[in-house]
Amino acid sequence: MLRPVLQYPDPRLARVSEPVAEVDDEIRALAQDMLDTLTSVGGVGIAAPQIGVHRRVVIIDVSQENDAPDHPQDFKVFINPVITVLDPAGHEELEGCLSVPDLRAKVKRPRRVALDALDLDGKPVHIEGEGYYGACMQHETDHLDGKLFIDHISYLKRSLYDKKMKKKR
Ligand SMILES: [Zn+2]
Repeated sequence: MLRPVLQYPDPRLARVSEPVAEVDDEIRALAQDMLDTLTSVGGVGIAAPQIGVHRRVVIIDVSQENDAPDHPQDFKVFINPVITVLDPAGHEELEGCLSVPDLRAKVKRPRRVALDALDLDGKPVHIEGEGYYGACMQHETDHLDGKLFIDHISYLKRSLYDKKMKKKR
């Protein structure tokens, strides 16, 4: 089922999401709604709070890992994801977000990370990645802590964006 994607500055995007105690049908239905919404609007990832559900569930396009130009998208669900920094060296990628309209900006994050989570069967899963893929893992997991990529950009860029959005409303 398609769900509306919350748009900044909706305060629900700043709320911390609850861990999933049990991977049950309710969580599987949530993941399906997230997938339907993501494939309809297009993108490489989505987090549950973006559709207004404050549970720790994200979906990431894992086909980015091999970075082949014509790879088909391959969306995987990650429940209760935890990020571990494998290489803290700062690395910049151009990021955008389904919940942050009309803005793409360079964000500096640790270069290489691992993500540990549960899959839809409740089994542990582990992925690792760097560059845009690693940034995507961190970006989606940030949503669960109420953080957006614009929380990582300079104060100046952020105020310009806030001004522009205020005018638009
Ligand atoms: Zn996002």
